[in-house]
Amino acid sequence: MQDIERFLLGFRQFQQRLFGIEHDRFADIKQGQHPQTLVVACSDSRVDPAILTESHLGDMFVVRNVANLVPPCEQSEANQGVSAAIQFGVCQLQVKQIIVLGHAHCGGINALMHGRGEQVAADDYLGKWVRIAEPARVQVKQALSHKTIEEKCKACEMAAILVSLDNLMSFPFIAERVAAKTLTLYGWYFDIDAGSLTGYDPQSGSFRSLVASLDKKAVTGHDLTW
Ligand SMILES: [Zn+2]
Repeated sequence: MQDIERFLLGFRQFQQRLFGIEHDRFADIKQGQHPQTLVVACSDSRVDPAILTESHLGDMFVVRNVANLVPPCEQSEANQGVSAAIQFGVCQLQVKQIIVLGHAHCGGINALMHGRGEQVAADDYLGKWVRIAEPARVQVKQALSHKTIEEKCKACEMAAILVSLDNLMSFPFIAERVAAKTLTLYGWYFDIDAGSLTGYDPQSGSFRSLVASLDKKAVTGHDLTW
């Protein structure tokens, strides 16, 4: 079956639930959205945050882009879709938490680690975008020069999450809410190889296991204190 046919079949099944057997559960969200959580995730087809967490319609306000990056707060005339979505989620929807969800084998981070973004042409939109994580690339390059490119990419995927968390704090409306403890920021990393989830722990400066892999063989934490 082709994609489009499969998607239409899927929507018909969803429609049966929305207007049929689970009608009551969906009644509220037809009136408006009240998500408590904003998620910044990668556009990668394997990293849909709602599917990964088995969430439902209305649970998450989601911003997706290449490499789950948040640009720093800056005032310019450029179209700033990510900043606008974050402002809407925080100021309008009043979300209580923001999760930056990174992942293994990220194509955007891989491109950055292979030099995309160093000297970008005017029409290199991907290069200009992934350059947001340049501080992570520089840090990894300096601290892990002896490691393989695969290890460097993995470290950069995690370090880029921290860059985005820092950039979130550069928005005054976020810094104010974090200081007032009405908003909490989280950095999560989905390891698709291990099937595990780790989360950044500011106290230890490392990623700690949130949900270990089923076989428990994979590393359950990643030290970022280089
Ligand atoms: Zn990615």
